[in-house]
Amino acid sequence: MGINREADYSEYMSRQEALWEGRCRRCGACCGGFDDPCEHLRPGNTSGQYYCDIYEMRFGLRRTVSGKEFNCVPLRSILHKHWVSDYLCAYKEGLTRTWPENI
Ligand code: SF4
Ligand code: SF4
Repeated sequence: MGINREADYSEYMSRQEALWEGRCRRCGACCGGFDDPCEHLRPGNTSGQYYCDIYEMRFGLRRTVSGKEFNCVPLRSILHKHWVSDYLCAYKEGLTRTWPENI
């Protein structure tokens, strides 16, 4: 019983994580895409979309293409801040508008 509950919780958390990640529009704005991009920001296969080439280990000291150093941090910790073209961000939108359950 205990094991099943742990497995259920783990599955639930995985689904929640996938839902959260799936909301990203891959616009690249939070990675400086419309300003001075992080050197790890790469264009994706779909026009206007980007991805991080070190996503699984992205947090920590990083550099922009112009050479400025900054800390890559979880998005939740910068949601209250401003960045260039942040109006594109789905998570910022979620602060003021209820998300549909399935996007
Ligand atoms: S390291 Fe951080 S800032 Fe740089 S592209 Fe990846 S997620 Fe964006
Ligand atoms: S600004 Fe928001 S929607 Fe755009 S890539 Fe960053 S997290 Fe995703």
